[in-house]
Amino acid sequence: PRYVAAPDRYQSMSYPRCGKSGLRLPQLSLGLWQNFGAVDSLANARNMIYRAFDLGINHFDLANNYGPNYGSAESTFGQVMAEGLSHYRDELIISSKAGYDMWPGPYGIGGSRKYLVASCDQSLKRCGVDYFDIFYSHCFDPETPLEETMQALDYIVRSGRALYVGISSYNPEQTREAAAILKSLGTPLLIHQPRYNMLDRWIEDGLTDALDDEGVGAIVFSPLSQGRLTNKYLGGIPKDSRAARGEQIYLSENDLDEATLSKINALNQIAETRGQSLAQMALAWVLNNKTVTSAIIGASRVAQIEDSVAALNNLDFSAAELKSIDQILA
Ligand code: NDP
Repeated sequence: PRYVAAPDRYQSMSYPRCGKSGLRLPQLSLGLWQNFGAVDSLANARNMIYRAFDLGINHFDLANNYGPNYGSAESTFGQVMAEGLSHYRDELIISSKAGYDMWPGPYGIGGSRKYLVASCDQSLKRCGVDYFDIFYSHCFDPETPLEETMQALDYIVRSGRALYVGISSYNPEQTREAAAILKSLGTPLLIHQPRYNMLDRWIEDGLTDALDDEGVGAIVFSPLSQGRLTNKYLGGIPKDSRAARGEQIYLSENDLDEATLSKINALNQIAETRGQSLAQMALAWVLNNKTVTSAIIGASRVAQIEDSVAALNNLDFSAAELKSIDQILA
């Protein structure tokens, strides 16, 4: 049977404006970095995408090399689009990126115009869409003039491949420079995508000031620190977790040392007094930063998305709660 989206899908989510742009984004977005590859269950991926949209998550974040294998998360998304979601194209914000390694040789990595434009075309094909809503430079490339990377983004917009542009993980100085170049080209910088969560607060040291000055929004990745800021590792490392999967180089046992676990435990106690799961409090906490427009969650199953969306029921913090959290994190 054809997918029909829940009629009440816009009921509980808010859609704050992204920086000073005209674009509003959902407070929570879904990222397809992990669990949507060719090695993963298509049925589970499809269910997560549909459930997310039913709950008001209308933004799906992709990149050329999400998988594994590289490209396969975009192909999964393209398949789900073709099966049932393409009907809703104009309600969706679909993003992709290029920057990290994608294919062999000098044109499959970095910030050159050659790589970004070719990769964008490949990503469009895999996703089965005519344009991306947002296209990103995935990382700063010190070997390419920043002018060239920004000209490539400007060209991607002018040629109809994307509507807006973003940058990811650029430092404050690189961000200010990128914003200035893009402004001079006539394609404003919409958004910055940095990592941000209770265990990694680097953006508070200059990046959010730069974004506020430039009127650029922030969409933060790994708000749950890849699952560490949930109740899942409190009693050890479950077999079906990201940290347990042998092939994962991004999160391992080493990231769950005793000091971290004691912080997670203390945070979990605050979450309990708020009547929230730790995941819910972690999401509320990143959204409490006024520069943050949206948080991109990852998920391995539908229930996690439901749990995370319920964070929206309590986004407020008392001054005392914020102070206790700061003390735990100090
Ligand atoms: P999170 O920090 O949200 O971690 C997601 C993981 O946390 C899930 O896979 C799951 O782990 C666990 N989890 C999620 N919800 C719950 C819950 N409610 N209760 C318990 N556990 C939960 O984000 P990711 O690190 O996955 O990153 C999110 C997205 O950000 C990516 O998909 C991508 O789009 C983007 N990103 C961008 C980067 C960039 O360079 N621009 C880099 C990294 C990510 P488990 O799988 O173990 O069940």
